[in-house]
Parts: sequence; C-alpha cells; structure tokens
Amino acid sequence: MPTYNGGCYCSNIRYELNLDSPEQARMSICHCTNCKKFTASAFGITAKIPKSAFHLTKGQTVHHVGDNGSGTQLTREFCGACGSGILEYGAHAGDSIYLFYGSLDEPDALPPKGEFFCKERAGWLPEIPGLFHKREIKE
Ligand SMILES: [Zn+2]
Ligand SMILES: [Zn+2]
Repeated sequence: MPTYNGGCYCSNIRYELNLDSPEQARMSICHCTNCKKFTASAFGITAKIPKSAFHLTKGQTVHHVGDNGSGTQLTREFCGACGSGILEYGAHAGDSIYLFYGSLDEPDALPPKGEFFCKERAGWLPEIPGLFHKREIKE
C-alpha cells in the first residue's frame, strides 16, 4: 500500500495519504474562475481520493465554506497560519475528497490525468498534451 506524505508551507499541518495503488488518486487540473481565486494561481490542481485514505498527522486545518459559483457549497481546508490549501470537497462529493497537488512532498508521484473547464483556460497557457480535455465538468 503506497504512502504519500504532505503538508502545508509552514509545516504546522502534516498528513499521510494511504492508497491501495497510485491509480486510486485521480489528479486533475481545473481552469475555472473559482479555482483561480482560491489558489491565487492560473489553475487549481487536485487529486480525487477516498476520504478514508487521508490522515492528518500534525495540526488542524481551518475550514471555509462557500458557493463554488454554480450553486454547490464547497468546503476548503487550509492552514490557518500560512494559508496553504490542503483539501476541498463539495456538499455532494460523497466519500471522495480532493487533495491539493502542491501540498504533497513529492507531487510528481501523482501526475494529472485531465483538464477541466478548459473554456476558462488562461489565454497564454497551452493545452497539456497526453491528458483528456473537457470544456466544463461533464463535456
Ligand atoms: Zn502552514
Ligand atoms: Zn475549478
């Protein structure tokens, strides 16, 4: 069972991720306006993982709940000291949560499989070859 370690920028928060296999994490890029705002970057990049795979080993996250722009209440968990994003999940995400790529100590271990909301991709940013591309979420 592969284990991945991660945490926030200031190390107040540390976690362990226990997966059955690397394929259990579905990493994807999201170009939507909401992800840009929260990450203060050009896109969001998160892995869909089973809730049971994630274990905090140090510290506690701060939660923020807000409308994601399409009527879904989205919870984001981040470090209250340094602000690094750790997790996000919608009200209807069920047993899945989304883990922020850059919070992993070795993010290269779980590369992205696709891109969402490509209609909102930054004008200067080319498509990433080899990934699937969706204009929004479903199509
Ligand atoms: Zn921190
Ligand atoms: Zn998004």
